[in-house]
Amino acid sequence: MDHKQAENRVAFLKETLWVNSRRYYVENAPTMSDFEYDHLMRELEDLEAAYPDLRTPDSPTQNVGSDLEKGFAQYPHKYPMLSLGNTYNIGEIEDFARRAEKELGEVGFTYSCELKFDGTAICLTYRNGKLFRALTRGDGVIGDDVTANVRMIGNVPLSLVGTGWPEEFEIRGEILMPYESFDRLNRERVENEDQPFANPRNAASGSLKLQDPKEVARRGLMCTLYHIPAQSVSFATHSQALDAAASWGLPVSSERRVVTGIDGIEEYISYWDKQRKYLPFATDGIVIKINELDYQNSLGYTAKSPRWAVAFKFQAEEALTKLVSIDYQVGRTGAVTPVANLSPVQLAGTVVKRATLNNEDFMVGMDIRIGDWVKVIKGGEIIPKIIGVDTTRREGEVEKPVFPRTCPDCGTPLVKDEDEARWFCPNSDGCPTQIKGKLEHFLGRKAMNVLAGEATVEQMFNLGLVKNPADFYSLTKWQLLSLDGWKDRSAERFLESLAASKEVPFERVLFALGIRHVGETTAKELARHFGNIDSIAEASVEKLLEVKDIGDVIAKSVVQWFQKPDHVELVERLKAAGLRFSTEETGTSSEALAGLTIVISGNFSISRDEMKRLIEANGGKNSSSVSGKTSFLLAGSKPGPEKIRKAGELGVRIIGEEEFMGMIPVSGSDDKAFDEPTLF
Ligand code: NAD
Repeated sequence: MDHKQAENRVAFLKETLWVNSRRYYVENAPTMSDFEYDHLMRELEDLEAAYPDLRTPDSPTQNVGSDLEKGFAQYPHKYPMLSLGNTYNIGEIEDFARRAEKELGEVGFTYSCELKFDGTAICLTYRNGKLFRALTRGDGVIGDDVTANVRMIGNVPLSLVGTGWPEEFEIRGEILMPYESFDRLNRERVENEDQPFANPRNAASGSLKLQDPKEVARRGLMCTLYHIPAQSVSFATHSQALDAAASWGLPVSSERRVVTGIDGIEEYISYWDKQRKYLPFATDGIVIKINELDYQNSLGYTAKSPRWAVAFKFQAEEALTKLVSIDYQVGRTGAVTPVANLSPVQLAGTVVKRATLNNEDFMVGMDIRIGDWVKVIKGGEIIPKIIGVDTTRREGEVEKPVFPRTCPDCGTPLVKDEDEARWFCPNSDGCPTQIKGKLEHFLGRKAMNVLAGEATVEQMFNLGLVKNPADFYSLTKWQLLSLDGWKDRSAERFLESLAASKEVPFERVLFALGIRHVGETTAKELARHFGNIDSIAEASVEKLLEVKDIGDVIAKSVVQWFQKPDHVELVERLKAAGLRFSTEETGTSSEALAGLTIVISGNFSISRDEMKRLIEANGGKNSSSVSGKTSFLLAGSKPGPEKIRKAGELGVRIIGEEEFMGMIPVSGSDDKAFDEPTLF
């Protein structure tokens, strides 16, 4: 390659890396795999090494990708927050260790081996033992202030315990979204026809940048800490600094190990390569750090990463297959999702034939063509996802897909709001696919639990038997017998199942209505807070915002839903059919807390008296002081320090409101009855 060719290639690589860095860090919607990104970065590094005059200070090789966003206060980091040199090649880890041995001598130093947590970096400052500030990595020099959001993360202590912490110090780590929270969030998003997050990393960084701390609390994030800048503490080793941090109550990873020599590193890598699938959160590799802080100082830093650490990255399991065609699917909220039909391919133990393409921007970003070879991953996702195109294998006729501008079902021109990534069909009352989607949602297992199946709903709709959910309750046996293949028994079973659905508790009826953004959890909170549908229908946005975990978007959506006369009529008809529209209709009682003695402390989303009533109504016993007999301390915001201290001393478990609410049913009916597989 001559100089001119190198110059062109460098310009191309820089541009490509910057564009993809923005998609990854700011938009949380990467269109390229990490492997591919790292590969291009390596090519750029090699070219810049061969042609040093082409290395400019603005090159992606000299800067960490920036997550800075408008809407956050920004503060400088006391010490720069850098990236890590990384490799997918074990030979390069051996080179790293050999270089370290050459510089430091073969013995007398150790490595701290740690998991590489796949979340988003965070820097916490503690001042006088209290959490003072939380900053994202930003551009490495300044970070976005996300303190209000980090305060909502359950395992980040607001106050330190123990002794010996410096008056002020920084500690760094990662904000993660455990798989369980990720699956719940994505299930809710799919149910609400919001775009699911591609992976837990994107979900964690997107959640950390929300403007609504209450919504952050709902997302179930966690924090793990792995680095105290050597300048802010006086320990001999990195691992001692982390042990001390753990004794101050900070969440430090328990999977880290101090090892000696290359063998120790390789043992750790091969252990976690197999075991990491059992971890409750995502990891994308192993980090190897020289453990002695003096040696760290003597090795120092490059412009972008420390010389005393390196990351070994695991490759995500992916498959390469051909894109055959793209379907554009309309959901019950009108969102139009492109779905790829693929040549069947084996991936992580299953055959994959279809994968999501998210939205139009995602497709354009990848420059995907029908007939292309595409890379598919499964990972933590609900459905497989295309993450890139192998353009080197593009051959023969490939066709640029055209995202439709009219609804593929009813032909209505699609609309797209400025802050939406997706196109919508606005014909919510007339678009057959949307109506059928709403009917199916209403009958769904987590809603009214009348499992009639897609084909049945389709037939009922096509025959004009049902147009809205209330129509189900006026169906007669004779009408049901007009359905293909239905006999006496199937019709009777369907009617029995409908009758049983009248016992479904209020929160699930509310979920069944299909109000946009009101998933299962939100419906539960609304039911708990307001108690009945009329109070919800009358509530203003301000009133709705008082509900735990309800932010602006949900509040507005609820208000808008009840403003539509059709919806008011639907509720009236369902009330007349005998469905439950208040929590009182079932009374709130259960034996869920039988035999437990509970102490409450602090403020909750409901009054303390109401909380005590809930405990008793569910068979628990209230007690005012923590003792050896206490089953758990239920702590709200600003709990009494004395109670917390006592609980810590006696080893009494402390739980938060969210966990507590998960232990009791909202209403007294037996949830299990509705989880049984039903009649069809
Ligand atoms: P990185 O993710 O490769 O490694 C550095 C980060 O690892 C640190 O900032 C820290 O947040 C994290 N980390 C996790 N566990 C750690 C531990 N135990 N000790 C220290 N750090 C730990 O680097 P990065 O600069 O955050 O991101 C660059 C990477 O992001 C690239 O290598 C690429 O894989 C990915 N990326 C992908 C795209 C894309 O389009 N797919 C775009 C930009 C970046």
